[in-house]
Amino acid sequence: MKCIFCDIASGKEDAEILYDNVGIISFLDIRPVNYGHALVVPKQHFENFTSLPESELKKLIHTTQFLSEKIVSSLNADGFNIIVNNGAAAGQTIFHFHFHIIPRFKNDFNFKPKFKAYENNNMKEFAEKIREAVKQ
Ligand code: 5GP
Ligand code: ZN
Repeated sequence: MKCIFCDIASGKEDAEILYDNVGIISFLDIRPVNYGHALVVPKQHFENFTSLPESELKKLIHTTQFLSEKIVSSLNADGFNIIVNNGAAAGQTIFHFHFHIIPRFKNDFNFKPKFKAYENNNMKEFAEKIREAVKQ
């Protein structure tokens, strides 16, 4: 199946590459939230966060930390968001795992969803469901 990030990783498709090292590539997102918005991508195809092997995840998170610092310092950003959209419901559109690094500037925009309040003691219910899964 065609995968644009596999094609960028193998050099078949162009991208504005920021970093290229054993097994990992980083390039600018073509539709940035802010200029300098970068993606950090394993060269091997893994669909999402939960399908990443531990060794791959460790390398990716270290590279993401390294690149975040470089993006902030080179662009004089005031902060950054690291985002993973996991699954279509969460906004994933490219099903080849990637971290987003989004440089942020004071008063640039609001990323805030409408917050819910727990009702009728259902905070405990949600916690219990998750705790059960954690135990297994
Ligand atoms: P997702 O929605 O899956 O978390 O993020 C996919 C990201 O990849 C989007 O922000 C989108 O703008 C970016 N993107 C999609 N196609 C291309 C492409 O061909 N080149 C680059 N550089 N970015 C892409
Ligand atoms: Zn791929």
